[in-house]
Amino acid sequence: MRVPLIAGNWKMNGRREDIRALVAGIRERFNAGARVELLVLPSFPYLDFVASTLEGSGIDLGGQDLSERDDGAFTGDVSAGMLLDCGCRYVLAGHSERRTLHGEDDQTVAAKFETALRAGLKPVLCVGELLEERDQGRTEEVVRRQLGAVVDRVGIAALADAVVAYEPVWAIGTGRTASPEQAQSVHAFIRSQLADESATIAGQVRILYGGSVKPDNAVDLFACDDIDGGLIGGASLQVDSFMAIAEAACP
Ligand code: PEP
Repeated sequence: MRVPLIAGNWKMNGRREDIRALVAGIRERFNAGARVELLVLPSFPYLDFVASTLEGSGIDLGGQDLSERDDGAFTGDVSAGMLLDCGCRYVLAGHSERRTLHGEDDQTVAAKFETALRAGLKPVLCVGELLEERDQGRTEEVVRRQLGAVVDRVGIAALADAVVAYEPVWAIGTGRTASPEQAQSVHAFIRSQLADESATIAGQVRILYGGSVKPDNAVDLFACDDIDGGLIGGASLQVDSFMAIAEAACP
């Protein structure tokens, strides 16, 4: 059975003292025996600090992005090896803000995914359609293309340890959530695309939903068969809302 994963994407928010309080609150409320895994994704300058404050908690650490290249003369970039060195186990690849604001295309995202895997990180591949693509009935086409670019590059077996996050772009940070039916339908589509290559891997891969998840919609979303947790933005910045969402994943 897939253990739910709740990941907090803190994006470019917080300073040391806010983060210290956030981690302390999460640690205090986290029941390490509960059937849910927690992951936090701070911005790069705070990774080391968060790693030390998480020690012994059983809560995982991840990066929000990585370079597709190995170490070298790439000013401003952060390598997979550096993330590992700072205590990360996970890293996001292809978050919609990277795709839209930084022009990352499917090939770049696939290269980042491969680099993460090669280094021993677990990549969380973010996929999802724009509002106009949904309105044009192209959601499955877009998600198939984004996921296909990665499967073609690394092969299905390499996804055994990876995570996919379905994040409709129109639901990110907008307060507009996909309904459980809309989300489940895309999650089932993603799993069936994986199953075309390997039913075993498809059954193993965790598929998270992301896009304005809040404590009051989390229970219904997480009750869906193919939703294995959430990638949480805004609501992960407050202990109460993040932990209420985590609790909704293991009722
Ligand atoms: C995200 O950025 O991945 C996200 C889902 O944000 P929010 O929860 O704020 O919509």
